[in-house]
Amino acid sequence: MVKHDNIVIGAGLAGLSFAYHFNKNVPVLEALDTVGGLVRTVDYNNCKFDLAPHLLHLKNPYVRELVFNTLGLKVESHVRKAHIYYDKVIIPYPFELNLLNLSEQTKKDCINGLNEVSHFSKEEETEIRKGSYKDYVLKAFGSGIANHYLLPYNRKIWDTDPADMTCEFMSHLITADKDQIIKNATEANNDKYGYNAEFYYLVIKGIQDLADVFATQLTNIQLNTRVEYFETKIKHFT
Ligand SMILES: Cc1cc2nc3c(=O)[nH]c(=O)nc-3n(C[C@H](O)[C@H](O)[C@H](O)COP(=O)(O)OP(=O)(O)OC[C@H]3O[C@@H](n4cnc5c(N)ncnc54)[C@H](O)[C@@H]3O)c2cc1C
Repeated sequence: MVKHDNIVIGAGLAGLSFAYHFNKNVPVLEALDTVGGLVRTVDYNNCKFDLAPHLLHLKNPYVRELVFNTLGLKVESHVRKAHIYYDKVIIPYPFELNLLNLSEQTKKDCINGLNEVSHFSKEEETEIRKGSYKDYVLKAFGSGIANHYLLPYNRKIWDTDPADMTCEFMSHLITADKDQIIKNATEANNDKYGYNAEFYYLVIKGIQDLADVFATQLTNIQLNTRVEYFETKIKHFT
């Protein structure tokens, strides 16, 4: 048992950032032999792979200042080139705004589904968004887009039934724009949609740079140290 007034459990981005902002000398106890948690880059056969695909969007002014200036991270700006393989064709992301080259049947399902849903006002949309993400998708995009793409895709990526997901959690995603979807289903477009159409990425190791730069500012990171038990009242941990 060791006694401390404060400890940070885990040197993932949350733990590292908390320690950086709270007290750079606080003990940060990390079970693994390296910092970063999910935000890690591993070497394999002389190639670098991020553990999970991480892109930096940096909308918050404080975070932009921290990344660009205070921490001095080297980042580059990129334009998203993301595509979806469906119906044996490759279409640009996002699916719902690029129906043009899908098979006639899928396109028909999507447009028919969209035509079945009613237009709603901003106020009505706010009300609908109080329900589950699944409800919202069916009411806003219709059954075609929902069943061909939005529901299975989001079930897979979040490993969660969309009926259990809130719209607040999914608020970064694109709002249904019926007219735009139908227009794009009939004519080609080169528009970029969504919060991640442009993003920043680190230039040296990969996303690991972000964790490493925080770690260099901290004085007491203890790797290979798994916390098994802690007692907050008497401030002991094992
Ligand atoms: C596929 C995927 C893509 C993502 N893409 C993005 C993105 O593009 N942009 C973005 O901003 N976010 C993205 N995220 C989210 C982001 O990865 C997480 O929000 C963030 O990494 C969480 O950091 P964390 O420190 O809370 O947890 P973690 O990264 O999980 O870190 C937890 C750390 O605690 C350690 N630990 C656990 N238990 C103990 C213990 N008992 N004792 C000691 N140490 C312990 C672990 O070893 C680990 O190092 C993505 C996530 C995933 C899964």
